[in-house]
Amino acid sequence: MFAEARPRRQRQFEDFTASELYCPRCRRAMPVRSRLLLVLPDGELHEYLCQACATSVGTKTVRENRPSQVFIP
Ligand SMILES: [Zn+2]
Repeated sequence: MFAEARPRRQRQFEDFTASELYCPRCRRAMPVRSRLLLVLPDGELHEYLCQACATSVGTKTVRENRPSQVFIP
């Protein structure tokens, strides 16, 4: 079940960096920033906000039960 083939750095990058999401207000894909919305028993719920108009364009749950999470400098 665990993604053994994927580099850990890549995963981490994906977790912390949202790509562009479609903003209904700007009517185009916009860069977004994430904001911590809720702390759940098994992770955190983040909300994505459009960087231009701060409209909420999506949410994401970041799981914390990742085994073998090692930070490699
Ligand atoms: Zn927008």
